[in-house]
Amino acid sequence: MDYLLSEDQIMIRDTCRQIAQEKIKPVRAHYDETGEFPRDIVKVLAQAGVFGLHIPEEYGGFGGGLLEMAIATEELSRACGGIALCFAASSLGSFPILLFGTEEQKQRYIPPLAAGEKLAAFALTEAGAGSDAAAIQATARKDGDSYVLNGTKQWITNGGEAEIYTVIAMTDKSKGSRGATAFVVEKGTEGFSFGKKENKMGIRASTTRELVFTDCRIPKENVLGKEGQGFLITMKTFDYTRPGVAAQAVGIAQGALDEAVAYAHQRVQFGKPISSFQGIQFMLADMATQLEAARALVYSVARMIDSGAKSFSRESAMAKVFASDVAVRVTTDAVQIFGGYGYMKEYPVEKMMRDAKITQIYEGTNQIQRQIMLLRCCRTIEVLPALRAHFTHPFLWQGSPKSDLISIWGHLQYLLPR
Ligand SMILES: Cc1cc2nc3c(=O)[nH]c(=O)nc-3n(C[C@H](O)[C@H](O)[C@H](O)COP(=O)(O)OP(=O)(O)OC[C@H]3O[C@@H](n4cnc5c(N)ncnc54)[C@H](O)[C@@H]3O)c2cc1C
Repeated sequence: MDYLLSEDQIMIRDTCRQIAQEKIKPVRAHYDETGEFPRDIVKVLAQAGVFGLHIPEEYGGFGGGLLEMAIATEELSRACGGIALCFAASSLGSFPILLFGTEEQKQRYIPPLAAGEKLAAFALTEAGAGSDAAAIQATARKDGDSYVLNGTKQWITNGGEAEIYTVIAMTDKSKGSRGATAFVVEKGTEGFSFGKKENKMGIRASTTRELVFTDCRIPKENVLGKEGQGFLITMKTFDYTRPGVAAQAVGIAQGALDEAVAYAHQRVQFGKPISSFQGIQFMLADMATQLEAARALVYSVARMIDSGAKSFSRESAMAKVFASDVAVRVTTDAVQIFGGYGYMKEYPVEKMMRDAKITQIYEGTNQIQRQIMLLRCCRTIEVLPALRAHFTHPFLWQGSPKSDLISIWGHLQYLLPR
């Protein structure tokens, strides 16, 4: 399909495609096997200016938008979803600063991120707080001109590799989801250390690690936005970055389709290439159709956001859900087309299937995305007052699992018109 990309966008696509082909493909199995962090590829991406694609020119970036980021993420993920994530997770860590940082914070933190000299990460999740983000236990106690941070963050992408972390911690537990605050914490700050590195099923080139804060003192100048805006910043950030997860899913699925088409032409059974069998042809046709539909959705959501849309939580969630579900289906079908060989590590499709799965889980599971879509739909229909009453009057909770409602309420608070 022709997406009418601009000259710059075509240049970004072709550059990333070339890096993927020449630099990433030859080493992806190594990084998958060892779980090492691909520093050498990060340097190549930095030199090509990939880290600055979404960053305004005044902070040293290219001045592009989400579509440029989606194109780059897709092309890199086509070769390796894990290596592409080193770049995508850094933009996840940078978005809260870009969206909510003061001019001083942006001038200080963004230029080295745009240049790829430093990496960023975003830290919300804890052992007991995944989908239910409002359950986080990390605290930041105000003490004079600084905050003292205590707690442990779990499964943080780029953890230990990044230099700049956006960290969400509770400044006032009594206020529930309005009691969280976002902080910028630099690697090397006293009281900030790294815990366990995870041994994962997929995206193994991407480092996932624990962050540990023990009486870690952070100057008040490192607060992003205002005290109490931690979850608002989180939700807004994810609205911008979920199309990136969707683009990663599209890229992984495209990589698997490329491999499946090539293999189907080359593999001979019953005296013919398996691509001549209608059963295989129909599978490939369905894979290609689903993939193109996913790409079309991701690009149009990215364009919608880039064009200055005010509200796009629903569209962003839809892109992530649709593309990640497609990626899991397409990569699984690719393994099927390879038959037993697909199950072996000599071929890349088993890795792609493992890599695809995470796109249904992180930055909010697909179940949570469906709740966000529902809540956004509710905004536009008449049930809103009733829904608000339902959540604000505890006696109306009878008959509904309370924990479900609390979790939904965490998201809802920032979505409902006031
Ligand atoms: C490889 C990896 C990298 C990650 N990187 C980061 C990172 O950089 N930063 C960060 O902060 N976090 C990160 N995460 C955490 C990730 O965002 C969470 O894993 C995710 O939000 C889900 O939380 P959970 O794993 O605790 O699942 P849970 O919340 O325990 O959910 C378990 C299951 O229950 C379902 N569920 C939960 N609540 C509901 C509900 N109300 N209705 C219906 N179903 C529900 C979920 O969909 C899921 O299927 C990462 C995770 C992984 C695995």
